[in-house]
Amino acid sequence: MEPVKRFKVIGTVTSLPQTSISDTLFERAKKVIPGGVNSPVRAFRAVGGSPRFIERAEGAYLIDKDGHALIDYIGSWGPMILGHNHPAVREAISEALAGGTSFGAPNEREVELAELVTRLTKTEKVRFVSSGTEATMSALRLARGVTGRDLIVKFRGNYHGHADGLLVEAGSGLLTNAEHLGAGAPSSAGVPAAYAALTLVVEYNDPEGLDALMQLRGHEIAAVIFEPVVGNAGVLIPTPEFRAALHRVKSHGALLIADEVMTGFRLSLRGACGLLGLQSDLTCWGKIIGGGLPVGAYGGRAELMDFVSPQGPVYQAGTLSGNPLAMAAGLATLRELERDEGLYVRLETYTSALADGLRAAAGEAGVPLQVNQIGSMLTAFFGDGEVSRFAHAAQADTAAFAAWFRGLLERGVYWAPSQFESIFVSGAHGERELESTLSAARAAFALSRTA
Ligand SMILES: *Cc1c(COP(=O)(O)O)cnc(C)c1O
Repeated sequence: MEPVKRFKVIGTVTSLPQTSISDTLFERAKKVIPGGVNSPVRAFRAVGGSPRFIERAEGAYLIDKDGHALIDYIGSWGPMILGHNHPAVREAISEALAGGTSFGAPNEREVELAELVTRLTKTEKVRFVSSGTEATMSALRLARGVTGRDLIVKFRGNYHGHADGLLVEAGSGLLTNAEHLGAGAPSSAGVPAAYAALTLVVEYNDPEGLDALMQLRGHEIAAVIFEPVVGNAGVLIPTPEFRAALHRVKSHGALLIADEVMTGFRLSLRGACGLLGLQSDLTCWGKIIGGGLPVGAYGGRAELMDFVSPQGPVYQAGTLSGNPLAMAAGLATLRELERDEGLYVRLETYTSALADGLRAAAGEAGVPLQVNQIGSMLTAFFGDGEVSRFAHAAQADTAAFAAWFRGLLERGVYWAPSQFESIFVSGAHGERELESTLSAARAAFALSRTA
């Protein structure tokens, strides 16, 4: 952590931190990039204020352009499970870089990463793409190609990337920018109603609703796609009854697609499905699998994956798929996760201590708070009562959350800038970060109460 000490750590500020360089950059950005950002939630619309521009990142910290070191709970929205700028990952990328950046022809690292992913996740074949969006989009095309059926089922508030047919009652930034949400319709302008009509939506953690839909239309359904632990409505954990209902969809000839883009290698080496005993037909990955470079993947049994072109009739391609730098970053990250056996236990220990600390601090401040936590994923919902469905999450007090978020950021803690996101802990977060976070959280709860 040595390099970070050269920067201001703003642990106990009483006046607002100086952010003039970030503010100036944001003004410039807004002139040439829609909303000033290349992905919506980064713009801080839901929490107010303007986003920090990041100069560099190290371990558990982001260092912004004005020189503030911020304890980072976003981890690039999931990939940075080892912490930022991890030496093993950086060295693997440098080594690959020396050999050229892209070939558009097969390379050995693709084979190595495919072997590693299939071994760790007990999958037979995997195809690499460049984002999570491509992974889910391609897995659904495959499911439609295999079954010859058109309909798909997704769950309310689950997010599977931004392909047209999946922007229906979707989570993540679609919840954050809720002014664009139509009732029961596509979550985005520009999605034809005819596409949206092919996507049926059920409430997450509603086994009866899922069973009823499958009884009615199961024979028309190509696939049921789900987040095995939801991160994109905030964290929602599937009940045993819901998990059983998910397995039952297979009896209707529909494929079960686990979207592990967020949870894969995050909750265990076998993802959320491995942790919770879920068996899907196809799995999608992203985020951690690329170690901070753009990678996604989808995989499953060979009999299904062999429908993919050039082996089979389902077309899917990519100019930069299997890129050597991206493969190197993914390989180094997954090898480190496999080597460091205690990592997942350390992540759980830190994150459950964070959850307990937040509950206690909120209690002392008289702020109603529901913390959902599993492994290194956590959401602090501002409100009363259990949060297991999207409808519960939607009742959270987003104004209180926003005030709390700003209080944290002013004290050097970079939380996810939306009530409807998971935060992520990395292997670089330790005692010092936990203590600073909880002391910032205590001060920020006092602010949220008056919001
Ligand atoms: C992030 C995410 C995606 C989309 O991945 P991108 O790389 O942003 O396209 C899809 N599904 C889930 C569950 C995600 O968390």
